[in-house]
Amino acid sequence: MITPGKAMDDKFHDECGVFGVFKHADAARINYLGLYALQHRGQESAGIVSSDGHQLFVEKGMGHVADIFQEPSFEKLKGDMAIGHTRYSTAGESSLQNAQPIKVACSKGELALCHNGNLVNALEVRQRLENEGSIFQSTSDSEVILHLIARSQKSTIEEAIQEALSQLAGAYSLIFLTKDKMIAVRDPRGFRPLCFGWLDGSPVIGSETCAFDLIDATFEREVEPGEMVIFSEQGVECRKIFPAVEHSYCIFEHVYFSRPDSEIFGRSVYQSRYLLGKYLAQEQPAGADIVVPVPDSGVAAAIGFSKESGIQFEFGLIRNHYVGRTFIEPKQSIRHFGVRIKLNPVADLLRGKRVVLVDDSLVRGTTSRKIVKMVRAAGATEVHVRISCPPTVSPCFYGVDTPTKRELIASSHSVEEICKYIEADSLGYLSHKSMLRACGDIEGQSHFCSACYTGKYPVEFPESTLVEISSRV
Ligand code: SF4
Repeated sequence: MITPGKAMDDKFHDECGVFGVFKHADAARINYLGLYALQHRGQESAGIVSSDGHQLFVEKGMGHVADIFQEPSFEKLKGDMAIGHTRYSTAGESSLQNAQPIKVACSKGELALCHNGNLVNALEVRQRLENEGSIFQSTSDSEVILHLIARSQKSTIEEAIQEALSQLAGAYSLIFLTKDKMIAVRDPRGFRPLCFGWLDGSPVIGSETCAFDLIDATFEREVEPGEMVIFSEQGVECRKIFPAVEHSYCIFEHVYFSRPDSEIFGRSVYQSRYLLGKYLAQEQPAGADIVVPVPDSGVAAAIGFSKESGIQFEFGLIRNHYVGRTFIEPKQSIRHFGVRIKLNPVADLLRGKRVVLVDDSLVRGTTSRKIVKMVRAAGATEVHVRISCPPTVSPCFYGVDTPTKRELIASSHSVEEICKYIEADSLGYLSHKSMLRACGDIEGQSHFCSACYTGKYPVEFPESTLVEISSRV
């Protein structure tokens, strides 16, 4: 039995998606739809917590949003406010215990939390709290936030959240729910996106704007880095709770994670991906007959490459969208079986052609190797691989599931060596400078984190985290 998500995908993995709606008669169902649109950000578990103004109600499960929530779930999720989460485990094991939202009862009343990101000093803070007697329910780093809030002597929930977050470092886009308030907060560097909009006069918060499109909500703006937005009976209040620091928007959101129909970090993801492909064609041209994307995420870059190079675009690989969470392998081996579960070549398009294969990342190299072989077996005479970002050389510690440094092929191999390994006729990556430009950066004023390409981490790690990190590098 294979789990395609982890065993087969040679990709970085999305972190989590968060969504919230305040004072809407159909809050739980709206939240469900928001999570449905954010399913690409995490497929291991999902949950919704709602409030009727007196009490919080929770429904969580393992698997996809559509499988977890059925009609009876919405009868349970009473009230006109709700927050929800879809998770791909980045910190803590994958289990229902770690599924979010996390709901607790503490001195501040009932409180629920959804977290997208990863706290780099969670381990250190957790050890301190455990030494002082705290008991944790899960292995998730997010629970640390709730413990710090519960212990705060501040009189209001907003002040307690601020005090808790001031002790933490790393990436967090958060939505809290109390019995009568919804509170959104984004870390001072703004690693992960968090968008704010309106639906029928009710405020909505979500990781990406594609969630707003599905429910017909209008996008107003992003929650600013270091900002807290409070939704209550009194209306909407915005507070800057941290001094301004340099931004570190995750550039991988534009390169790969976010949906191309979303607008995040003030820019269309599709436009960024198109330009990544366009600049790739300028920097890494290839003599070929057709440009073929590795679908789905490589499509926009391949269109940009094709338009710029004048080489015809073709869907030479077709993706199976209905791959389940696990599947049974045949007893007798089938050539290219693992990769064919997800991708199948269109032999008629590829036969006798020189192919430029455009992908958005090359992590371990194992899948690229299989795809190149498969395209050649389908009749391509040459396969030129082009990657719409620079070589990935370092793991992420800000909420993205990445292999260890040792497993990242580009951390220890030259482009020539990788090309040989994947058995391509040529291999070309986009430069770091052009990646930043494609995603909207003005030279010398970068707003992005690109540590997985450079190894230069914008937020430092405490000593205890370094011990944990050393096992991953
Ligand atoms: S290290 Fe890479 S994946 Fe992680 S936040 Fe930075 S750019 Fe994003």
